[in-house]
Amino acid sequence: MATRRQGHARRAPAALARSALAGIVPVIERVRDGIRARPGWSAAAVALVALGLVLGWLPGEQEAAQSTASVIALPLATVETTVGPDASAATDDETAVVAAVIEPPVAKPAEREWILVEVQPGQTMERIFRQVGLGPGLLHRVVNHDDYTRGLARIRPGDEFAFDIDEELGFLALRAELDEESWLYVEQGPDGLGSRIEPRSLDRRVVEASGVISSSLFNAAKSAGLSDNMTMRLANIFGWDVDFALDIRAGDRFALVYEEIWREGEFLRDGPILAARFTNQGDTFEAIRFDAGNGPDYFAPDGRPMRKAFLRAPLNFTRVTSNFNPRRFHPITRQVRPHNGTDYGAPTGTPVWAAGDGRVIRSAYNNVNGHYVFIQHGNNIITRYLHLSRRDVRQGDRVRQGQTIGAVGMTGLATGPHLHYEFLVNGAHRNPRTVDLPDADPLPDSLMENFLAAGRPLLARLDHVDPNAPLLLAQRDPAGCEDDGADC
Ligand SMILES: [Zn+2]
Repeated sequence: MATRRQGHARRAPAALARSALAGIVPVIERVRDGIRARPGWSAAAVALVALGLVLGWLPGEQEAAQSTASVIALPLATVETTVGPDASAATDDETAVVAAVIEPPVAKPAEREWILVEVQPGQTMERIFRQVGLGPGLLHRVVNHDDYTRGLARIRPGDEFAFDIDEELGFLALRAELDEESWLYVEQGPDGLGSRIEPRSLDRRVVEASGVISSSLFNAAKSAGLSDNMTMRLANIFGWDVDFALDIRAGDRFALVYEEIWREGEFLRDGPILAARFTNQGDTFEAIRFDAGNGPDYFAPDGRPMRKAFLRAPLNFTRVTSNFNPRRFHPITRQVRPHNGTDYGAPTGTPVWAAGDGRVIRSAYNNVNGHYVFIQHGNNIITRYLHLSRRDVRQGDRVRQGQTIGAVGMTGLATGPHLHYEFLVNGAHRNPRTVDLPDADPLPDSLMENFLAAGRPLLARLDHVDPNAPLLLAQRDPAGCEDDGADC
């Protein structure tokens, strides 16, 4: 398994807000005034899509077509959602205001009957006030009440407001989402308006999913109820050991235990993967999320980190345009010259990352290399990055694995935008795509007890959801090994 190449799972389909959509729909009733009830698109759905964009998933043409408008109930036993009658009408726009009466889930001050309003593109707060029957004078007083309410003047599509309006008394209260974790209430009291902030409790539910791959990981994961975002994260955990572009076979299987973040009965978003298992061509890999003090990371059950000390490829690339080749005919100089690295084709501006922790020993420009960066890692490994459009580090800088050091370009001797990447061990060029990458440091003994205590129940859940996976029992049960037993 040490010879497997890292996969970057680059062909991720377009980000779907599917699970967010399926989860956030509250119990909705039709409302008076003929305004039709609709499920609230919470900001979570938007955020999820935005996250996808940030992560740089570009929808492949064929996948984009099948990723539109999928609203599917989550097939997870622990989750129960009730989809409103018009869940499928979320994209039609015959009314500007989305309003619904929602049953108050908890006993808030006096049984308020909220009118929920979701901001549509192009809407102003004034228009929203008008549509619920409130005047601009009130809006002016609300917005100018204090620093918090001033924020109400800046609304965005997808924001959700709740009004409590009495037919005789008029405006009683307005509730706004200050952020993911707090409500802003503006209430009409006997002496005028008052405002207060109330925490919104986030509820973390631990759920599990599993699947067997028949055509693709993404299809199997979708069937298991996973969002594409979660599938990406799953692939990233095991991407050090499994090349998800080349190594996946029918019959491969996965299982994971992860968190869902809920708030007041509404699904907000997926939380972290707590533990996962991937069986690839008979080899089973397991990973447990654990914070050893530098932020959470994933470790095998024996305490080895899932990640290596080096990224296999220091960028999200489109394709390999030229491989490492000691006897290559050079396309520009037209001479036989060794190609001492790997050329990764990618659009100009694509971030280039430090392959491992280290120190920048050169950051400069010349006519052949263009903008280039060399990094020294420990004593014996140097990585080189050529033809950059931009350099973000200077000679002497310390860099961490994954830190952006520059961007893909075609400066120097290059026919198109690509990264020329070299990997040198003790001064000798090695093939970056096949060189054995050193492991990162394992968990220290002092943390193993905590790690195992946290990991055991998660592994038990994986066994429960994926009972037929071939397990690596020796690896799974370090307790069966004597101290320092090298064969464990
Ligand atoms: Zn090259």
